[in-house]
Amino acid sequence: MSTSVPLTPGPGAPNVPEPGTPEPAGLPPYVAPQWRFCPQCGGPLAAHDHGAGERGTCHAEGCGFVHWNNPVPVVAAIVELDGRVLVARNAAWAEGAWGLITGFLEPLEDPAEGVLREVAEETGLTGRVEKLLGVAPFRRKNELLISYHVVATGEVRLSPELADYRLVEPARLRPWPSGTGHALAQWMRERGHEPVYLDHFGQDPGY
Ligand SMILES: [Zn+2]
Repeated sequence: MSTSVPLTPGPGAPNVPEPGTPEPAGLPPYVAPQWRFCPQCGGPLAAHDHGAGERGTCHAEGCGFVHWNNPVPVVAAIVELDGRVLVARNAAWAEGAWGLITGFLEPLEDPAEGVLREVAEETGLTGRVEKLLGVAPFRRKNELLISYHVVATGEVRLSPELADYRLVEPARLRPWPSGTGHALAQWMRERGHEPVYLDHFGQDPGY
């Protein structure tokens, strides 16, 4: 069963600043929400500063659980099939919104294996990792994006969580200015295609 989730928010969500733009200090409000109860003992979590800001902390005797709120690794794939790139629309997204294949890792899973598993689960394609493109924070979701170029073979059979897909010539790709869009832009530049960013994720590039 796939554990994939959309990497990027639905249309209308605010964008993360361009690379190089200073991030505001501290955790943004969308990261701060948080668990109210201890997953180990069920006791209440209280804010406690361990030296890097307040973290939900369980003070029950013998427990001491701390919700560190570490970023969650997410693998993303630029899937190349017969020279074109597969972009997919999650069933929860509006028409015209396209993204990469993404997903969470299984316990103990190597990310290079996890990204190929996600590609297989979501598209039915058999892939091999051509290159690790980069590792970058996606601060809005407190995720760590591990992006790969995956060369795939086979016939596309989408999982139910994906509603549609397109195979796009590399030069025609329009990256989005958030999340995995920057990995896509980097990949285009490495091929001599200067990317023309969309204004925001979810804008219809007309594929
Ligand atoms: Zn506890």
